Amino acid sequence: MNPLSSPRRNPSTRSARRRAPSHLPAQDTHHVALHSIRSFLKGRTCYDAFPISFRLIILDTKLSVKKPFIACSSTVSILPCLCASSNHLPGVVSAPLWNSEKSEFAGMLTVLDIIHLIQHYYRTASYDYAAADVETFRLESLREIEKSLGVDPPPLLRKYPYSSLYEAAQVLVQTHARRLPLLDYDTETGHEVIVSTLTQYRLLKFISINCSKEIQQLHHPLRKLKIGTYVQSSDSNPTDNPFYPIATASLDTTVFDVVHKFSELSISAVPIIDENGIVVNLYETVDVITLVRSGSYQSLDLTISEALKQRSPDFPGVVICTAHDSLGTLLQLIKKRRVHRLVVVEGEEEEKKGGKKGRLLGIITLSDVLRCVIGASPPEPIEPSTSVPQSLSTPDTTNTPAAS
Ligand code: AMP
Repeated sequence: MNPLSSPRRNPSTRSARRRAPSHLPAQDTHHVALHSIRSFLKGRTCYDAFPISFRLIILDTKLSVKKPFIACSSTVSILPCLCASSNHLPGVVSAPLWNSEKSEFAGMLTVLDIIHLIQHYYRTASYDYAAADVETFRLESLREIEKSLGVDPPPLLRKYPYSSLYEAAQVLVQTHARRLPLLDYDTETGHEVIVSTLTQYRLLKFISINCSKEIQQLHHPLRKLKIGTYVQSSDSNPTDNPFYPIATASLDTTVFDVVHKFSELSISAVPIIDENGIVVNLYETVDVITLVRSGSYQSLDLTISEALKQRSPDFPGVVICTAHDSLGTLLQLIKKRRVHRLVVVEGEEEEKKGGKKGRLLGIITLSDVLRCVIGASPPEPIEPSTSVPQSLSTPDTTNTPAAS
């Protein structure tokens, strides 16, 4: 029989298959499972994803940024909330802002805002000037800094807590926000009330807990699903950065150079690679803030290698995976541990084709995962402006095993 021609099927068999999705060929069960997860999200509200108990820190826009920036010993410092690493104070890495003059919500303060501020001061001022200026600098002026740096101001997002989780997920995906403030109205005063925030992580964890059966069906590999940003082949790489479009750094890069990348590209982590492109670590925005908080302003001159020594010993480690791991495996991992991003490295499959185990291949963040789960198309790659410094380094042992 010609292998390209398929035998004629009995029409009754075809309709029976349509009625029973469990008998669909293996490649279709993935799509059926995704469809089922989306239907689940359409039938649940943001309220449903709230934890049983939680705390919400709201910051007045009149508050000085001095506290987060340099006054580390102050008991009212807001930096501990912002730079608490996930293993210390899970979930507290941002805060809604409140305009008490107008009694209204004024946006979110995030780690990236603080990165922009550090970038602004480091670029434009001496330490003495910065120390004097932060005395009077208020949170409400942060948006001016973003304008002066030429970065887009974050959109003033909000959602009603009874909106469906699917709608909330769509807003998160379309606006590239990592968290969505949930606002209600006080019927007595007519004023807005900030109820909670919905993060990408909470949403994905909610899915992973409540859709375990569907998740087991999500067997398609990450790269095939275009989840994440991947190193482009040399024919389509317009730069001299061999890892384009991934922004990377080496152990010899200064923290400030990395801050610049975070601020310019609005990303929250860069893989740290050695001279062979092997991933030895990951440096994150929260690391910068922890560094500034615990040391001096000049600590931004440290190299990544020196800065990593100041990382908390209970840092949970860098999560790596290969492009062949499945979406289901990744969601199972999210169920078990608080993971915000994964570094994709070459594995055995790539090695067979002349690659090198452990070499950087891509990066996956929760927004990439959410985009796929919701069904939106992947974004345009971001444009790093400078080529990547390559230098000698000693492999770091903080990497944890692959996601699978
Ligand atoms: P995030 O806002 O962290 O979710 O990331 C936004 C987009 O940037 C995602 O599509 C990521 O895959 C991508 N991305 C994250 N980190 C990097 C990086 N270091 N270099 C290039 N792209 C990145």
